[in-house]
Amino acid sequence: MPDKNSLQVRPIAAYDDNYIWLLSDSHCAVVVDPGDAEPVIAYLKEHQLSLEAILITHHHADHVGGIADLLTWAKASGQHLPTVYGPAGEDIPGVTDALMQGDSLHLQKPACLLWVLDVPGHTAGHIAYFMDAGDDKHLFCGDTLFASGCGRLFEGTPAQMVASLEKLKQLPEETFVHCAHEYTLSNIKFALAVEPHNQDLLDWKSRAEALRQVGKPTIPTTIAHEKLVNPFLRCDFSPVINAVHRHTPLKRKDPVDVFAAMRAWKDIFK
Ligand code: ZN
Ligand code: FE
Repeated sequence: MPDKNSLQVRPIAAYDDNYIWLLSDSHCAVVVDPGDAEPVIAYLKEHQLSLEAILITHHHADHVGGIADLLTWAKASGQHLPTVYGPAGEDIPGVTDALMQGDSLHLQKPACLLWVLDVPGHTAGHIAYFMDAGDDKHLFCGDTLFASGCGRLFEGTPAQMVASLEKLKQLPEETFVHCAHEYTLSNIKFALAVEPHNQDLLDWKSRAEALRQVGKPTIPTTIAHEKLVNPFLRCDFSPVINAVHRHTPLKRKDPVDVFAAMRAWKDIFK
């Protein structure tokens, strides 16, 4: 029988392809990037959980849009207000505690320890949360690292994004990667345009398609898996460099140039 105080991590689907990650024990919950309050409230009610904290990775509406309604709901249902954590570098209404690289969160309910990583690129102030729960390690990375892909560069530079992805690559191999969107199949399609002979990627495509056919998430993946199947983590691998160079002739082949050209290729890829 599972320990009733053990920490659960599960996705709540929102909008077309967002995942709102929920961490909970048997009584208390924390949500990451609640773009919409309604599915979160439905889940909390169904499982009789109180909402203790909200963790935000960046300011985009599909990640912060539910904050105000969750606070209103908590107040109306007689609960104390959840603490709202978010990036120090972004101005987000409702955030009560601003976080940056090196900060850690010791949450009591549910009991967990999270470390904050600055991962600029998708947005300028984007942060990620790394949770070390002993045997299980979890990364909540918003729109920075996706399964077989990465976020678009709306505010940051390629050099920043490469450094952010490099930071995530350094996390323990077994770390579960919880990203905020189900973009996996379209990301795999692009990844195969870059690396058509990558057998790990071909195997992953079959597994991901089977999961989606029965309506299951392809997330979480792991850092180890992403290193094998995510071209954006493979900018120093010669088949990737050569494929990018064939598509967009590169003057220099350092990882930032390779990344920038590959990201621009993906932006227009259909
Ligand atoms: Zn975003
Ligand atoms: Fe998003």
